[in-house]
Amino acid sequence: MSDTIFTKIINKEIPADIVYEDDSSLAFRDVNPQAPVHILIIPKKPMEQLNDAEVSDQELLGHLIFVAHKVAEKEGVADGYRLVLNNGVGAGQLVMHVHFHLMAGRSLKWPPG
Ligand code: AMP
Repeated sequence: MSDTIFTKIINKEIPADIVYEDDSSLAFRDVNPQAPVHILIIPKKPMEQLNDAEVSDQELLGHLIFVAHKVAEKEGVADGYRLVLNNGVGAGQLVMHVHFHLMAGRSLKWPPG
């Protein structure tokens, strides 16, 4: 896959407000937040969209969800947060590097638009 803006953030070529990092994942604040807490959680491994996940990626994808929970605790929003993954342009995916949106800090409607 070709490099995205998230590749540059992983490689520290452009700045981001990083709230968590380990060997396989990175979490940073969304530059255009849609909620008081809006953090993106991404794998460092290049993967355009969830559809590209392979059997061997299951642990990594589970890890990202675990990281989301840890970040929610750290942000003080563990009592109410939403995790969103947009897969494909039709679902609103703009950056072609798999990412979860962690959103919290306001009332979140259901279903999302
Ligand atoms: P999606 O529409 O699911 O692909 O979400 C992409 C998200 O990336 C959007 O919420 C953007 O605001 C966010 N975004 C784009 N560029 C950056 C950046 N340089 N730093 C942080 N967030 C970004």
